[in-house]
Amino acid sequence: MVNAGPPLIVLEGIRRRYGGMGGQPEVEVLHGIDLTIHAGEFVAIVGQSGSGKSTLMHLLGCLDRASAGSYHFAGHDVAELDSDALAWLRREAFGFVFQGYHLIATESASENVQVPALYAGLPEAQRAERAAALLARLGLGDKLDLRPNQLSGGQQQRVSIARALMNGGRIILADEPTGALDSRSGEQVMGLLRELADAGHTIILITHDHQVAAQARRVVEIRDGSILSDSAGAVPMVAGDTTPDATGVNGVNRANGATNGGGTAGALPSLQLDPVQARHAAARTLWNELGESARTAWRGMRLNRVRTGLTLLGIVIGVVSVIVMLAIGEGARRQVLERMGAMGTAMLYMSSMPPQTGGPNGDLTEADLQAVRELPEMRYVLPVIGDPTTVRHGRVDKQVYVFASGEEMPAVHHWSVAQGRFYTEAEDRALAPLVVLGHKASRHFFPDVPSPLGRQLLIGASPFEVIGVMAERGADSGVQDYDDMVFIPYRAGRARVYQAQTQPDYVVMQAVSADKVYEAEAAIRKLLVARHGREDFGIGNAAARIQAEMQTRRSMSVMLGLIAAVSLVVGGIGVMNVMLMTVKERTREIGIRVATGARQRDILRQFMTEAVMVTLVGGAAGVACGLLVGAVLILAGVPVVFSISAMLGAFACAVATGLVFGYMPARTAARLDPVVALTGE
Ligand code: ADP
Ligand code: MG
Repeated sequence: MVNAGPPLIVLEGIRRRYGGMGGQPEVEVLHGIDLTIHAGEFVAIVGQSGSGKSTLMHLLGCLDRASAGSYHFAGHDVAELDSDALAWLRREAFGFVFQGYHLIATESASENVQVPALYAGLPEAQRAERAAALLARLGLGDKLDLRPNQLSGGQQQRVSIARALMNGGRIILADEPTGALDSRSGEQVMGLLRELADAGHTIILITHDHQVAAQARRVVEIRDGSILSDSAGAVPMVAGDTTPDATGVNGVNRANGATNGGGTAGALPSLQLDPVQARHAAARTLWNELGESARTAWRGMRLNRVRTGLTLLGIVIGVVSVIVMLAIGEGARRQVLERMGAMGTAMLYMSSMPPQTGGPNGDLTEADLQAVRELPEMRYVLPVIGDPTTVRHGRVDKQVYVFASGEEMPAVHHWSVAQGRFYTEAEDRALAPLVVLGHKASRHFFPDVPSPLGRQLLIGASPFEVIGVMAERGADSGVQDYDDMVFIPYRAGRARVYQAQTQPDYVVMQAVSADKVYEAEAAIRKLLVARHGREDFGIGNAAARIQAEMQTRRSMSVMLGLIAAVSLVVGGIGVMNVMLMTVKERTREIGIRVATGARQRDILRQFMTEAVMVTLVGGAAGVACGLLVGAVLILAGVPVVFSISAMLGAFACAVATGLVFGYMPARTAARLDPVVALTGE
């Protein structure tokens, strides 16, 4: 008896060759197979081990492509289908049952059964319900949450049958389903297949065991890649029209709206999505897909805690170093700016120099300074002589920087007197031997007295009277510690301490405002060149100094940033490494997912999600740790300035790193040949 209607599967002259590349000899495993199978048939393909049965089944199930010949499925030439259409076929038309069960080891029985529906886009609740119903029907109702390694072989095989039925399983491809089972479990499985056949499913059973094969309604014998015999016609065939739904499995199908009830086993004439599937596809939103990928990714991360932890560490270190280094760089920059800003950007510095045209050093005389002082652009002109000099009080004796300058010194340096007073211009003119102490110098020479005012200090060989103590200034970015100095009037200094000095070491000047600095500089230059007849002096300004300083700080920041970026990249390479390993470890799982209908982009998305998830978690942890490290640094007195943009940037970089370095392994996974993935370790 022959089925009415067009055949479901038509193979013509199918050949499959392996090798032939890289010098390996080409082997032909299938030598021109012609085979026609109608919907609702129960066919056994029997043959010895190595005869090419699995190869044939992989071709039938669209996991592999033939080297030659044609395969028409429901009237469509399979060679013309793209990978998505093939995935659709595997998902909606076929259900695979393998000798080695091929369950995903990390997922529970119920989750394994749900995998095909996942890729079909069935909503989660319905998925779980249907999986539970199928497993219950197959006698595993109490094993939903057990992992494959907690189940016996027979139970695992029943789980894989449930999985094959999840999306309807109109065509069940079973490759030695009883091969790994004891005889009793084997009989159970065969019983199930028979029931499914009775219910109208098309069953293609592969076995090396003639006794097992005999239970099918048609037996095709294959030897060395060729069909030896085919009992087609000899065995009565069931069209699946009147058979009662013996298994109840199809009751489940019907309950869920699938269309392959017992009476409509042949109802897959076209590749159109039927309304149920169309609904599933619509329900399959990006959000659901991402949620599902994230769930799987999270499980993967949990299962490989140590490895995940190490990868995370790489990312965290990268992010922390970016954040902290940038914060330190910015902190240092702001500090310099502040310190220099406190001194004022209207500051100018001048000292005599040998002229560039040659000749002796110039001399900045009192008269020169007076002339400069009278320029309208100038506010202060402060000649300074300063050198380490021996200062003594009683038996205490120390080399101290003695700073001889005008009475405007506190104003110029934005500094105040804490105790007593500063000397006046009149006292300066009168060569008065007065001294004002820096905070530290005061403590050094007068540790025990409440007030050093009125006491005498011997500076060089001359006695000076203490009239004041400066406020504490704190560490400066400059070379000298101002708190450790003593301050004397300029003229008295020249007369009593620095007798050899004919002119100031340098002159500190302040323009009337910061925007007049360059005008002031030009005016001074013009004036002094007129007076000296040549340019025998140098003028610098604070703005330029600040800029130079900022430049160095900035290059430091850039360098720190680079170092940090490098560590981030190293973290990214760590992600890539782990992902590549994961792909290797999970080729089998990828094969299973592909065999149950995952498209390339499903696999790609899953692995990308895992990579991004690692970096998301790592990035977030990195930002948190960065803040913590920063807080510790602040407590330790290191100036750090956090920037939100640096944090966001580092976080974004981490995630981008995950995307970039995760892509390659994910693509590798997506492009795995399903047969290689399934059979590979
Ligand atoms: P069966 O399932 O009947 O035991 P297979 O279809 O697995 O046989 O294999 C048939 C033949 O094809 C064997 O000789 C095997 O060595 C060969 N074969 C299978 N896969 C490959 C491959 N990827 N590369 C080379 N030879 C292969
Ligand atoms: Mg085999």
